[in-house]
Amino acid sequence: YVKERGRAGYRFYHKKMLDTSRTEAVMESHLRRAIEKKELSIHYQPQVDLDTGNINSFEALLRWNNPKFGFVAPGVFIPIAEDSGLILEIGDWVLDQVCIQLKEWQNGGFLDARIAVNISSKQFKQEAFASAIKKYIYKYELNPQALELEITESSMTNIHETLSILKELKQMGVIISIDDFGTGYSSLSYLRRYPIDIIKIDQSFIKEIEQDEKDEAIAKTIIHLAHSLGMEVIAEGVEKKDHVEILKAVNCEKGQGYYFSRPVPIENIIEMYFC
Ligand code: C2E
Ligand code: MG
Ligand code: MG
Ligand code: MG
Repeated sequence: YVKERGRAGYRFYHKKMLDTSRTEAVMESHLRRAIEKKELSIHYQPQVDLDTGNINSFEALLRWNNPKFGFVAPGVFIPIAEDSGLILEIGDWVLDQVCIQLKEWQNGGFLDARIAVNISSKQFKQEAFASAIKKYIYKYELNPQALELEITESSMTNIHETLSILKELKQMGVIISIDDFGTGYSSLSYLRRYPIDIIKIDQSFIKEIEQDEKDEAIAKTIIHLAHSLGMEVIAEGVEKKDHVEILKAVNCEKGQGYYFSRPVPIENIIEMYFC
């Protein structure tokens, strides 16, 4: 059996993999109704200023709880949503929920609060992406700086298109970050062309940074590069005090990871930081 899968080309599926693809098809049909059945929710993970311990930004991470499959990891259902095109509808839902939350915080006087939203490359490459973002900002009368868009290098395949979308977004005033930095294949030259505010160092470089000099060298180099281009850095996957110490020593601005908090429901965030 042969199934086509994006750029990876053709892959041969054995019996077990065929079962997997059947499961995926069933999952897709459930995912299709996940919004109306209210099976989706958003968890939030704080991003901590390493110097002061202050927190004013959070990453929104989608959760799917389905009666048949239970909690399905984003690593499983996001690719299904992307392949089926459902990510467009789901991505809109996430943006709407996040903007509603930001509006609430603004109304409550928490003017510095910011939420970062993961944007899939399918969303980013939509013709109307920038104007959709504009609509949300207007609809909820948001301070654009409260909204951060996490883009991956895989979204940045066409330099001219990417540049014009990013410029349009920057003109609105939203914050742009590059997620999973260091894992993509794009050339570094794009960094000086694109109006990027924040680089998020992928967690694979942080996980063993306390025992791997090469990881530390890579993290340090990314931070230097970012700073010399006027960007801030967030380290992902901060799990230990050792990680925090090393990252502080190399002037990384923020950290995000289980050491500080797992992604949690909004109620927990409000209780911890907005009461
Ligand atoms: P990501 O954007 O790189 O998000 C960070 C992931 O690392 C999250 O996994 C988070 O729970 C996990 N994480 C945070 N701290 C730690 C830590 O200290 N150690 C370890 N081992 N992991 C940590 P999650 O929530 O399972 O999401 C996985 C990926 O799914 C995300 O990676 C993102 O690419 C995608 N995703 C999640 N929500 C959305 C969404 O709303 N839209 C889109 N397009 N993608 C999403
Ligand atoms: Mg992210
Ligand atoms: Mg990441
Ligand atoms: Mg990611």
